[in-house]
Amino acid sequence: MPVRVHPPYERYALIAGLLLTLGMVAWQTSRVVQRDRALRASNQELAEERDRADAARSAAEAANRAKSLFLANMSHEIRTPMNAILGYAQIMQRRELPAALREPVETIEKSGNHLLHLINEVLDLSKIEAGRMELNKGDFDLGELLSSLSSMFALRCREKHLEWNLAKPAGALHVRGDEAKLSQVLINLLGNAVKFTEAGRVELSVQRDGDRFRFAVADTGQGIAAKNLARIFAPFEQGEEGQRAGGTGLGLAISQRILALMGSELEVDSTPGEGSRFSFSVELPTATGTVTPADEVHWQRVKRLAPGQTLDVLVVDDVVENRRVLAALLGDIGAEVRQAASGVEGLQALTERLPAIALLDMRMPGMSGGEMARQIWNMYGRDALKVVAISASALDHERQSYLDQGFDAFLDKPVRAGQIFGCLAQLLNVQYEYGEAEQAEEKTETDFSAVALPDELRTRLKEAAATANMTRLMQSIEEVETLGEDERRLASHLRDLGGDFALAEVAAVLEQIGSR
Ligand code: ADP
Repeated sequence: MPVRVHPPYERYALIAGLLLTLGMVAWQTSRVVQRDRALRASNQELAEERDRADAARSAAEAANRAKSLFLANMSHEIRTPMNAILGYAQIMQRRELPAALREPVETIEKSGNHLLHLINEVLDLSKIEAGRMELNKGDFDLGELLSSLSSMFALRCREKHLEWNLAKPAGALHVRGDEAKLSQVLINLLGNAVKFTEAGRVELSVQRDGDRFRFAVADTGQGIAAKNLARIFAPFEQGEEGQRAGGTGLGLAISQRILALMGSELEVDSTPGEGSRFSFSVELPTATGTVTPADEVHWQRVKRLAPGQTLDVLVVDDVVENRRVLAALLGDIGAEVRQAASGVEGLQALTERLPAIALLDMRMPGMSGGEMARQIWNMYGRDALKVVAISASALDHERQSYLDQGFDAFLDKPVRAGQIFGCLAQLLNVQYEYGEAEQAEEKTETDFSAVALPDELRTRLKEAAATANMTRLMQSIEEVETLGEDERRLASHLRDLGGDFALAEVAAVLEQIGSR
């Protein structure tokens, strides 16, 4: 009987299954290997990309550091000779000058200040780009700041036959904020308003709502075409009029960035042919400490030390022109000034006699100003004399670091007479005498918020100003004059304004005045 052998189907199936499984495993493994290879390749690519990005970032950072260092050094190098130029121009102006020299000296000072302004703008922009612009908050009198801006721009407007108007909240405005940067923004906007206005009016108005202040600068100038409105905030961008009028095209770009630091932004509203209005609002909480007048315009009026006052100063600077400028400014007001050309010479001078105050240049070869200060504090303690840092560096964090190190104050170069006299008054309570002419000018600029007029007279004055009734206005002013000393001062100010037909300004002054 034939034996039938059946093929071992079950085994075939098993083998086939095994082969299939093996195939699948092999296929899967090769996929995994492939994927792994691809993954590794892409990882390597990523790593290379990261290395490239790291290298590019380090290169950019190095370039940025080099740029900052270059700018800091350039700014220092430029400020040092500017210090001598502007210093001597100020000294000459403070002394009696022959009439023929007054204008040339004034031109030197104006041109020097202009140059300094350009350097500062370029430096500011690079500080902003490097993320190094910081706010420097302190307590200050906003009312004072506005008054000094007002005297500055009333003059510029008068020169261009424009009407000037300041509208501000009445009373003391002691607030906390970055006074220098706020003032920089306002000067920028007001400078543009005067520059681009040929007829009509420039106005600064400030409105208060609790801690929030809204500032607006309006002009009746040529306005800005709609297509240019977005562009003008970019660095170096100017409208055609701007290019004709000069400038760098940096003012608005810098103002916009400063306001961003303050959590605000610049808004513009402009109609070609009618005028422009730039405005912003910032938070300025009420001051917590006492406010000392930082107003340089006030201190520029110092003529000499008050009778009976003495002032002993040591000036330490390796650059002879810088020493001489400071010594001449201080010598002219009657201070006793010794000069030293290095830290070592300075310390030697201290062993002879301790001055009330030492003004130290920070960057000196050999012993730096910082090192000299530390030696002074080691030898004589912190209270024996005031020690002030002077530097041409314009970086905010450096200023702050001098104060943190223990210096009593920081003064920047180019030194300004007003800045130094203000600093001496603040640190040593120095009393001054002010010049005759300047005293009169100072009085007319002070605000009249303390003066009160009879209700009826105040209304009559306001109406006369509003309706441009000059006869009635002048008659009413005569009545004001008879009421007392403050009122006489007010009357003389109103008469000057009335004489110039600056009726909006008359109205603004009347707004400050109380009724009784
Ligand atoms: P700059 O004044 O140096 O040109 P800004 O950045 O301050 O630079 O201003 C940029 C441009 O904006 C000006 O060149 C001008 O074209 C325009 N501009 C600014 N303010 C006014 C204004 N009040 N009236 C008309 N144009 C203005």
